Amino acid sequence: MRRTVLLYLFYGSLASLALSTALLLTYFYQNHEVNQLQTNQGLAEIWSLGKKLQQETIYGAERIPYPHMRVERSREIEAEAEEPHLNLSHSSNYADPELYKGFIKYGFNVLISKQLGNERDLPDTRNKMCHYKRYPTHLPTASVIICFHNEEFNALFRTVSSVMTHTPLQLLEEIILIDDMSESDDLKDKLDYRLEIFRGKIKLIRNKKREGLIRSRLIGASFALGDVLVFLDSHCEVNRVWLQPLLYAIAKDPKMVVCPLIDVIDFTTLEYRPSPVVRGAFNWYLQFKWDNVFAYEMDGPEGPTAPIRSPAMAGGIFAVYRHYFKELGQYDKDMNLWGGENVELSLRIWMCGGQLYILPCSRVGHIDKHPKSYSPDITQAINRNSLRLAHVWLDEYKEQFFRRKPHLKEADYGNISERVELRKRLGCKSFQWYLDTVYPELETSIIT
Ligand code: UDP
Ligand code: MN
Repeated sequence: MRRTVLLYLFYGSLASLALSTALLLTYFYQNHEVNQLQTNQGLAEIWSLGKKLQQETIYGAERIPYPHMRVERSREIEAEAEEPHLNLSHSSNYADPELYKGFIKYGFNVLISKQLGNERDLPDTRNKMCHYKRYPTHLPTASVIICFHNEEFNALFRTVSSVMTHTPLQLLEEIILIDDMSESDDLKDKLDYRLEIFRGKIKLIRNKKREGLIRSRLIGASFALGDVLVFLDSHCEVNRVWLQPLLYAIAKDPKMVVCPLIDVIDFTTLEYRPSPVVRGAFNWYLQFKWDNVFAYEMDGPEGPTAPIRSPAMAGGIFAVYRHYFKELGQYDKDMNLWGGENVELSLRIWMCGGQLYILPCSRVGHIDKHPKSYSPDITQAINRNSLRLAHVWLDEYKEQFFRRKPHLKEADYGNISERVELRKRLGCKSFQWYLDTVYPELETSIIT
């Protein structure tokens, strides 16, 4: 017995030593990488870019700006933003196995997430000019749609509470939560129980099987009663006066699809940090990336608070008039799990008579999850979804995609006839038109 206990203790301490070393290494490696890139980039201030697009300063192809892939914050914004209220970077015990497991499961610091609890004060990251903007009291109402799959409880709850706190109640029709077949116990009864305090404003739908984020959002939209659908991820915190700019833009033009500027919530410290004004774009792999904004876009009277024309949206954070979303063909319901849907919708918006803008006076923080490699089912979904998008929308330019991903030439992508039909019915323009009018910079990287 004693021997077993000793052995147990021996192996136990070995294991925890290994765990903490791995964690510390990951942590320092990340920090090193961030610092390295920050010094390497020597990045220009965004506002002072010339009319010609500067050399690309967006790194990689992630859907959300990971710290080491983001455009550097402009000094102007940094000077203006208040200091973040919380800096908890040193309050975690990095040897705690719960922290390690949390990183693996959720991609961020769950110990700090627990400490933060239901809600916290956020720094006001908007440019000061935003404070002087006034919005009508009567605006369209919003249904906020949040789908989640095995989300960390506190992050999900903070998403909901921040919406309740920062949204005038007369503008909030409802918050619709779609549980995409989560397995975690705390997302079951405990969630129902804790959401009681928001009773009357919340609808919680539980999928009977895992549908993926695309079909889950469609399910959410089918229950919505508000005039405008506002999609959020389940690890966001909305900031003050976040909704009014979005609703006002849509009230003026129902074919306008708008995104807030996505602030970064750091995955190790959960510190909320301002992002510079950027626009969304993508490469020929059909992977999303952030891109610089032309200086002239901010030369007008609204300066850095002006709406930014965006060739693409980052992912799940945007607002659209409910009827327009339907008219536009919502999402491709045969896209699976995750990926590609943001670029597909962006192309559809532009090519079929709508517009897509980022509104810098609307700020929503998003936890910048620890980059992890995709599971095989997600990789498969990304490939299938990208193929569907390429075959429906890229015309002759789909060759550019296949040159980068030749192994997908023969891959199966299901039946796209409904989506091709939709494109015809909506009388959409060609991809050449999109390249010429919306995103000419993409042509420069063509392979002949
Ligand atoms: N999600 C989901 N089902 C899935 C995959 C994702 O409901 O099969 C949810 C996820 O919990 C999150 C949202 O969809 O709330 C967007 O996913 P994620 O945050 O991974 O995407 P990203 O931030 O990279 O756009
Ligand atoms: Mn996300």
